[in-house]
Amino acid sequence: MSNPTETNPAAASTDGAHLTNFIRNIIDDDLAQYKYDSRTWSGTPGPAAAQANAAVDPAKIRTRFPPEPNGYLHFGHAKSILLNFGLAETYGGVCHLRFDDTNPEKEDQEYVDSIIDSVHWLGCDYQSFGREHLYYASDYFDYFYAFAETLIEHNLAYVESQSADEMRTNRGTLTEPGIDSPFRTRSIAENLKLFREMRAGHHADGTHILRAKIDMASPNINLRDPAIYRIKHAHHHRTSDKWCIYPMYAYAHPIEDALENITHSICTLEFADQRPWYDWLLAKLAEFGAVNTPLPQQIEFSRLNLTYIITSKRYLKQLVEQQHVDGWDDPRMPTLVGARRRGFMPEGFKLFIQRIGVSKSDSWIDMSVLEDCQREVLNVHQRRIAVLNPVKLIIDNYPADISEECFLPNHPQQPELGKRGVPFSRELWIEREDFEETPPKGYFRLFPGNKVRLRYGFVIKCSGCDKDAAGNVTAVHAEYFPDSKSGTPGSDTYKVKGNIHWVSVKHAYACEVRLFDRLFKVPYPGRGSEKSENFLLDLNPDAKKIITAHLEPSLKEVQAEACFQFERHGYFVADRVDSAPGKPVFNRVVTLRDSWASAHK
Ligand code: ATP
Ligand code: MG
Repeated sequence: MSNPTETNPAAASTDGAHLTNFIRNIIDDDLAQYKYDSRTWSGTPGPAAAQANAAVDPAKIRTRFPPEPNGYLHFGHAKSILLNFGLAETYGGVCHLRFDDTNPEKEDQEYVDSIIDSVHWLGCDYQSFGREHLYYASDYFDYFYAFAETLIEHNLAYVESQSADEMRTNRGTLTEPGIDSPFRTRSIAENLKLFREMRAGHHADGTHILRAKIDMASPNINLRDPAIYRIKHAHHHRTSDKWCIYPMYAYAHPIEDALENITHSICTLEFADQRPWYDWLLAKLAEFGAVNTPLPQQIEFSRLNLTYIITSKRYLKQLVEQQHVDGWDDPRMPTLVGARRRGFMPEGFKLFIQRIGVSKSDSWIDMSVLEDCQREVLNVHQRRIAVLNPVKLIIDNYPADISEECFLPNHPQQPELGKRGVPFSRELWIEREDFEETPPKGYFRLFPGNKVRLRYGFVIKCSGCDKDAAGNVTAVHAEYFPDSKSGTPGSDTYKVKGNIHWVSVKHAYACEVRLFDRLFKVPYPGRGSEKSENFLLDLNPDAKKIITAHLEPSLKEVQAEACFQFERHGYFVADRVDSAPGKPVFNRVVTLRDSWASAHK
């Protein structure tokens, strides 16, 4: 088999090693030119002085996944994680998990813990070359600060004391150059003194910032003296009250990459405009001997945009805080904790990321692509029987006081997984849709006078039904053929067109089952075809239905997170939070086929 996805969809390396993309081409070129062969690495992140006399870096490349711990990871992050960790694995490199925690106010340990869990859940490992590559930008605060002083000393940074409004006005526009700040000519000594005072807490928030001195007339607005540090008297979840100035993201990020010997710093397209600032800053710091070389290079790719979900952390938080969902890990949420609880598999995300590829053009991927990938990998799970919308079937010629076992294959494509016994008795639950008193054309299931096979059991012939005063069917009656039991000699002489599933009434496990569907009812929530201004108006009110289903008895004993295909219905997972021993509750992961398009015409 030439294509590994044909046999095991998720066997290929996470970034799709058998596929090529423009990032892999860049890395291939870099390696062909031996670009990183003499790069040294002391074993831990650090400035040039700390790396100088160290051995050659054993990692062929270094990538990183740099989340800000201000929320839970969503489906979009899965693309970045699998891409970065996958590339590192493919090329004999390392991928760092780095918390970009330089923005004190919105960050929290709760998010750090959850991000670590989700990265592991996706199967990514930051343990390599004998150490753990888990880093925090907040551990580099001293370096950010020292490098800022270095820039001041080289007359490449100054303390700005204009108001925010003045700075905005003087920054210019896309067509007009900016205007130099009156503070741009401050002496090096005065800048150093003021910057040290900022650090020492002598100035209030918003009174000064530190800016790079580049070019207020640059056609790229990001190079018009970008901000480096701001004053923020704020408590930080890791450094506490040690700092009252914090570096700007666009200043800190390149330095974090350089301190960690990152070779390929892969980010989403909106950072393309920042690249000249990224390169300017690191080139200067390398020139002054502050950071190791060769320098990291920033490479942009298009972010994952998926229909029927939102991925902005701010909106996800709103869904949780306003209780439109039951928490970050609600199975309807497009978070990785939600996906796990929903029963999505990491392998399904890997297959999805391979399938959609990596490019530089922004586009939308339909949710059905992810759902299909999940269905494909979910097929590994064993089969079980469940009746979701029950009506009673009474086999009038079967004795009331006995029961027997029928043997059902655990997996139709994997006979080695064997069979299990499922009890059969006189009264069974069947699906209400599997009986019609007056059958429509082409209906092969139960109707008076028709024969069907009870899946892996007996052939029966329908004799009629009972109804209540309102005309609702309360029970269906049938007679069975004792010599028709599946697997017994001669049973295949019965030829029937219908085949329906069943669960014995007295043995069934009556269980809470949650039927989940898409969280939003339109492809582009908040801005889609229906032009609703507010994404909350696009929530799908039917995204969660709770029913009591009748399950085959073996399902009563399964562990939380066990997943099965309920034949004819879809994949279901025992909820990891609400299941108790001997009392699992199930979530529907996905239906067997994409039913969304036909149901929502
Ligand atoms: P938000 O804007 O909602 O806060 P973010 O993108 O800022 O999200 P981060 O935690 O900063 O979230 O992101 C960590 C990494 O994940 C970044 O490198 C970012 O580029 C990447 N990432 C975030 N969203 C997507 C997406 N939709 N597709 C691909 N990569 C993404
Ligand atoms: Mg961010």
